Amino acid sequence: MMHAYFSPDQMLHHGQTFMVGGERKPIPEVPERAEILNSALAKLAITPQNPADFGLEPIAQVHSPEYLRFLENIHRDWRAAGGAEIVVPHIHPFDRTGPYPQTPAAQAGFHLGDTSCPVSATTWQSARSSANCAVAAARHVRDDDASCAYALCRPPGHHASREIAGGFCYLNNSAIAARQLRERFGRIAILDIDLHHGNGTQHIFYDCDDVLTLSIHADPAQFYPFYWGHAHERGTGQGLGYNHNFPLPLGSGDDVFLAALDRANGIINHYAPDALVLACGLDASCDDPFGGLTVSTDGFGKIARKISLIGLPTVIVQEGGYVSPTLANNLVQFLESFAEARS
Ligand SMILES: [Zn+2]
Repeated sequence: MMHAYFSPDQMLHHGQTFMVGGERKPIPEVPERAEILNSALAKLAITPQNPADFGLEPIAQVHSPEYLRFLENIHRDWRAAGGAEIVVPHIHPFDRTGPYPQTPAAQAGFHLGDTSCPVSATTWQSARSSANCAVAAARHVRDDDASCAYALCRPPGHHASREIAGGFCYLNNSAIAARQLRERFGRIAILDIDLHHGNGTQHIFYDCDDVLTLSIHADPAQFYPFYWGHAHERGTGQGLGYNHNFPLPLGSGDDVFLAALDRANGIINHYAPDALVLACGLDASCDDPFGGLTVSTDGFGKIARKISLIGLPTVIVQEGGYVSPTLANNLVQFLESFAEARS
């Protein structure tokens, strides 16, 4: 079975609440998710390895120096300026053409895109460890010729762009994995099957033609992240034609998802990449509390098989997937089907 990576430090971060409909609601991206996903690995007799600390270099290939300094220091600076225990912004810039903001409140609004990515004293440590899992999995595929590897990333990453956190995400683990693979492989594809559009990943590679980005997700006309993920977003400059979105009607199930996946696979095959990063959200499940799509456990098996049969060296990066009765089973089904199709 495939190698997997997880660090206990990833349990430390716990953003408590975010704003929905004008009310404070509990953030569903809880440490318990990692326990459930670990229980799935145990069922598959996979013991995840604690990743090494690869330092800032792999992360800095994706994120700006200002943003990394912000994530590391903002909690201390915010507290020193009299802020409460959790960093949450109350103002956001219209654009980013002015000088870099100086006060903690201004920096928080600059780098935190919404209220769902609060920063606590442990956020940086957990986000770093999560990214280290992605680097370890990518290097196992890159350097050891492994056919695939799984990074149990939590907090997730695909809503984080070069210098803006969002949607429970701080460091873009899938993008970091892609940059690691790119050091050996000429062309990379990132396929995002999370319920939500991978807007951070799209933004990071929007002008690139060496990393193809594809995302299958609930239609952003009706669903987070709203402003991105529409079919007409195709990339820009050199990257024009190298970004593909597959927005699905809310409530879509296995058949609609699998049909979109067939179209995505066709584009991947035509691009002929040398390696694949799978941004593996499991929140398209019919049992997920977000309730956007209705993919069954059996459906996740079929999705995994189709992706495995593309036949590329693959880094599977955990994205979303929230506490539900089938979260563990969905990961078991996914990884088992992926590995079976490989053997
Ligand atoms: Zn999601």
